[in-house]
Amino acid sequence: MSTPTLDPARGNGEQLGKLSAEAASTGTARSDERIQPEERVQPDRVPAWEDQAPIHLLWINAGLSCDGDSVALTAATQPSIEEIVLGALPGLPRVDVHWPLIDFDSGPEQGADTFIEWYRKAERGELDPFVLVIEGSVANEEIKPEGYWTGFGIEPATGQPVTLTTWLDRLAPKALAVVAAGTCATYGGIHAMAGNPTGAMGVPDYLGWDWKSAAGIPIVCVPGCPIQPDNLSETLVYLLYQASGQAPMIPLDDQLRPRWLFGSTVHDGCDRAGYYEEGNFARTYGTEECLVKLGCWGPVVKCNVPKRGWMNGLGGCPNVGGICIACTMPGFPDRFMPFMDEPPGSRVSSAASQIYGRVITNLRRITLHTADKEPKWRRRGDELLTGYRP
Ligand code: SF4
Ligand code: SF4
Repeated sequence: MSTPTLDPARGNGEQLGKLSAEAASTGTARSDERIQPEERVQPDRVPAWEDQAPIHLLWINAGLSCDGDSVALTAATQPSIEEIVLGALPGLPRVDVHWPLIDFDSGPEQGADTFIEWYRKAERGELDPFVLVIEGSVANEEIKPEGYWTGFGIEPATGQPVTLTTWLDRLAPKALAVVAAGTCATYGGIHAMAGNPTGAMGVPDYLGWDWKSAAGIPIVCVPGCPIQPDNLSETLVYLLYQASGQAPMIPLDDQLRPRWLFGSTVHDGCDRAGYYEEGNFARTYGTEECLVKLGCWGPVVKCNVPKRGWMNGLGGCPNVGGICIACTMPGFPDRFMPFMDEPPGSRVSSAASQIYGRVITNLRRITLHTADKEPKWRRRGDELLTGYRP
């Protein structure tokens, strides 16, 4: 098994892409094992950060979306986008972010340095390696005789908008990895509801659920409407470490979500779960009890937001009084509507917890009454009452 290392004599942009492909083909790209010490990049052979050729991050926000995932990423703190871009994380390869939300060049065509030129360079094979981030759902461009649903830049030869599906066809085969950011890009989201006119879908629906990049990496789906900021920044960091041979294959579940982020339910991490267990349910907003009767889907939704908080560890839907509407789930929104109604499946379990909860609560009150007192030997007097034996 070869050891992934970077040769300082060569530009590492080319090497980083090869390392990941090598990792996939040699078995170092495992989803279920930790990377072995001998497989790690040798620190003394990694060029200084400022001397490294960057990994490019090409962000296309031209899917059907509200750009909420771009906005969300600006709020990431663990790590922040600034830390990623400025190389503040040990061992993180240099990254050049081409992101419409913040790039000074984005907007109309501006000659050779125009923002869209980065995407054309990638199409021509002049940017290697690059990670492609897609925001927004993929409209079905095949269902209409003329016009387009979504465009990103202009085709120089025709002057016509380049559709998202065209960019996906051109860039996905060349990308080191494809990241679907937010529920619209992962599974279609709100635009893909029953009755929509665009035939919207997620990136895996378009490229195929078994699709893999040239480096052997499946589509990485980070859902959320919008995405939890740190979930995205952390996933990008993981892929950058993987690209530089410092992490094994990103572990994904059967819906292509990072397993360490989406392995538990909202309910598992909810501040109100104790109330649920004791059958204590809110009937109006603004109370501290469990919100299941008001429409919370938390017990059956995979999301870490109540544990992680929303920004800088604070917030997190039910923790701060909002029902979970299951925005990270592939069936969102259709399977979880109408939002403000009690989930049908929760009636049996919440009725059972009300019966069981009353018994448990009363037993706990008895124990609490005993436990909420100091031991009797802690008092003044000339006698030692602790039971001490010399
Ligand atoms: S508010 Fe929702 S997630 Fe929290 S305990 Fe109740 S059902 Fe579970
Ligand atoms: S807790 Fe529910 S509504 Fe909130 S982000 Fe997670 S899945 Fe979405």
